[in-house]
Amino acid sequence: MTDRIWDLKAETMPRQEKNRLQFSRLRETVERVASQVPFYRQLFAEKEIDSSKIRSLEDTIALPFTSKEDLQNHYPFDMLAVPLEEVVRIHSSSGTKGKVTPVGYTKRDIDTWAENVARIVVAAGVNAQDLVQVSFSYGLFTGGLGLHYGLERVGSAVIPVASGNTPRQLLVMQDLGSTVLVSTPSYALYLAEAVAQQGVKNKLQLRRGLFGAEPWSEGVRKKIEEGFGLQAYDNYGLSEIMGPGVSGECQERNGLHLNEDHFLPEIIDPQSGEPLDYGEEGELVLTTLTKEAFPLIRYRTRDITRLYPDPCPCGRTTVRMARVAGRSDDMLIIRGVNIYPSQVEHVLTQIPGVEPHYQLVVSRDGSLDALEVQVEVQAPAEEHEIWSKRIEEKLRGVLGLRTRVTILETGSLPRSEGKAKRVVDQR
Ligand SMILES: [Zn+2]
Repeated sequence: MTDRIWDLKAETMPRQEKNRLQFSRLRETVERVASQVPFYRQLFAEKEIDSSKIRSLEDTIALPFTSKEDLQNHYPFDMLAVPLEEVVRIHSSSGTKGKVTPVGYTKRDIDTWAENVARIVVAAGVNAQDLVQVSFSYGLFTGGLGLHYGLERVGSAVIPVASGNTPRQLLVMQDLGSTVLVSTPSYALYLAEAVAQQGVKNKLQLRRGLFGAEPWSEGVRKKIEEGFGLQAYDNYGLSEIMGPGVSGECQERNGLHLNEDHFLPEIIDPQSGEPLDYGEEGELVLTTLTKEAFPLIRYRTRDITRLYPDPCPCGRTTVRMARVAGRSDDMLIIRGVNIYPSQVEHVLTQIPGVEPHYQLVVSRDGSLDALEVQVEVQAPAEEHEIWSKRIEEKLRGVLGLRTRVTILETGSLPRSEGKAKRVVDQR
């Protein structure tokens, strides 16, 4: 059975035609930022970039990168390409370090956003008959409102429960009969735990779940699916670029279809900045092709992934990106070994009896870095020692690194209603 496709023309466009569209939109964007955004005007002047020299998509690599620091240095509104009166909405990216980064949207940007989200929710099998419980936070964070508008466009009945208040989430889920759940994967795990505790899984109507806003593993996907009896789909986006709706999984679940007519993707080596080929793992760089208020040229997302251009059995021709392995900011270098929290998560979730709740504590042991993995296991205290040895061995086998595993009772680690904090760096 082929999927329903929201925007048949855009999502199944032949590669050549799409490249022509991307190129003309790229040229327009470069010309516009050069004339409207002083930051880019100055940057292009410094690097002697003239938009007339952009003669093909390949010339994108001649353009300079934009970084999160650039956005912070032009706080709050200096990166806007339109006067403030044309802005109808402001969101911001989460300020993990320092200030938040405000992002503006024009009326057309909000419309484009809803279209992009509509594509990914339809790809995940959501339709107008669905009752969708949105358990993302609503506010400056783009998750809640981003999904909300796209789902309404598809015609689904949106239940904007927002995040938190778990007893109410469960009540709504049962009484209203939500058929789709939208949240972060870590909050979905927490909700699944509450469902198990109350023994109400068989009272739920959930059939699908769309999870995003943080990296997650196949193991966690399985746990969420078992916990609710639903099919879980990954989706991706970031506030600086728009919010959710940049890419999402189709029924094949073999990569996230990226809305290439709106966002031009590249993969680069995060250290050298050199472009990498299709299939190679590196940092995702995105150029917005249609954004009016907040266009960005070669924005360094810090997210580590790969791109696959080959056609998907679902019929979409858009390039697919692999599940995000981690953020280059979250990469831990422990005694010379590069590790993403999601790799540890993957190992943990493959071991039956181990809960998908964990925390990584990095400390300095003399001159050496030490990684402690705190994880919950359903086992009596006298078996904790055996469990910790077993998990240490598994982690060593996969990561090639010695870790210290501390077994905790079920429920001891903090649960998250939004994005989980997986790493505590004490160095
Ligand atoms: Zn597909």
